[in-house]
Amino acid sequence: MDRDAATRDDPVALAEAWLSARVLVVADGTAVVAEDDRPRLVLLPSDEAPDGERLYLGRDDDGPVFAVAAALPRRMGARPLGLREVGALLDDRDAGLLVHAVGLANWHAAHPSCSRCGAPTEPARGGSVRRCTADGSDHFPRTDPAVIMLVHDGSDRCILGRQAAWPAGRFSTLAGFVEPGESAEQAVAREVFEEVGVVVDDVRYVASQPWPFPSSLMLGFTARCDGDAVPAPADGELAEARWFDRDELHAAGTWGTGRGVQTPSAVSIAWHLITRWLEQG
Ligand SMILES: [Zn+2]
Repeated sequence: MDRDAATRDDPVALAEAWLSARVLVVADGTAVVAEDDRPRLVLLPSDEAPDGERLYLGRDDDGPVFAVAAALPRRMGARPLGLREVGALLDDRDAGLLVHAVGLANWHAAHPSCSRCGAPTEPARGGSVRRCTADGSDHFPRTDPAVIMLVHDGSDRCILGRQAAWPAGRFSTLAGFVEPGESAEQAVAREVFEEVGVVVDDVRYVASQPWPFPSSLMLGFTARCDGDAVPAPADGELAEARWFDRDELHAAGTWGTGRGVQTPSAVSIAWHLITRWLEQG
């Protein structure tokens, strides 16, 4: 997708784009997904779209695409699904559209007022900003950087944790938010120490993933710690943290698939970090 910022600033072009647009309707983080050969988003012609704020997502080879936050349309052979359920099964274009639409719709819903003066704000520039009705200030969608890291011993073992709210057996990589004035690498080291009391070095960036629950950008890293370190849940976020070797993780299931050790499903960057590390063994 071309996000096409030029059209956002041109009300005439924006109105024209709507006439030939396809529209993704989103509600509470879900959209209607058709399940033929493989899942795909159901996009409506703009003259069939429900009323609602028009959020311009950009254009691809087939033309402009908008999102509207409204009650989901009903379609035969299609049903409402969220990013967690279907994100990994959609193709790249559809997964990108859904993340963009859900993230933008969440932000609009959560920011009705100006953070300077408290007056109502209204969408502007195709939904890419909100503008204060009293002082005219622009407010931009917010993205919160978070770090997520696979901590390993430089050899055959890594540390995973289980959050207190998760069922027994469900494990994932450690993660946390970047604080003001902190680099992402510093956040990795601080979060690992806070969560499991382990000191890391050799922090290396791997990849990132937008995660609109509600507005994170997950920055994926690996970090190394001493193989003699003993991880222990420290700040109350984790109920359990321990070492795993590659054999144990190769034999593990994914979340929701049954008993025993389970690691994240393919929608998450945690899965990517773990899988990548397993393949390096
Ligand atoms: Zn204001």
